[in-house]
Amino acid sequence: MIADNLNTTQKTIPEGVKLVAVSKNNSVERVFEAYQAGQRVFGENRVQELVAKQEILPKDIEWHLIGHLQTNKVKYIAPFVSLIHSIDSLRLLEEVNKEAKKNNRIIDVLLQFHVAQEETKFGLTLEEAADMLLSEKYASLLNIRIVGIMGMASNVVDDSQIRLEFRELKQHFDFLKQKFFSEQIFFQELSMGMSSDYQIAIKEGSTIVRVGSKIFQ
Ligand SMILES: *Cc1c(COP(=O)(O)O)cnc(C)c1O
Repeated sequence: MIADNLNTTQKTIPEGVKLVAVSKNNSVERVFEAYQAGQRVFGENRVQELVAKQEILPKDIEWHLIGHLQTNKVKYIAPFVSLIHSIDSLRLLEEVNKEAKKNNRIIDVLLQFHVAQEETKFGLTLEEAADMLLSEKYASLLNIRIVGIMGMASNVVDDSQIRLEFRELKQHFDFLKQKFFSEQIFFQELSMGMSSDYQIAIKEGSTIVRVGSKIFQ
């Protein structure tokens, strides 16, 4: 039962940590079941699926885009998206800014970092992020707000490996906070942790967990 899963999951998450229910590959009926159980924040990793669900489901849902985002698809989510977790280039950030402006709004985003061992996972290095934040181009983007960072740990069974990677993300967060966002109180989110590792992530300072299969199993 989705409601029961949601309940058990929520019990393991301390106050102050936001639960994003990752509803990818689940029907609108199943998402609505979670909605009726009280969940209001949902994450999707594909634009098309996100838009399709947003159109049908209640309008007080907060939708997060958690997966890789192509620049040519930003326009579809710009009118309503609450948080984009996956900014991994200046070009993408510029595009989000452009579409946010068209929609007369400011869009909150997270910078995605690569800390896992797997080659395939998207994300910036700390150096790339610093270059971006120091650029004149970035300084001219008035319709986006970087509210924190996101990352994924390696898909391994070794807890200590996962812990080290989350620690690295937290260090990235602290470094950026101190160096680029010390005056900006809104830079406060650290999105890390999924079904298999969110309890480790919370111990390492996560403020947003993205849990899918544990809820929608
Ligand atoms: C699918 C997905 C999740 C959730 O994964 P589960 O193991 O199902 O909890 C979290 N983050 C991202 C980026 C995802 O694509």
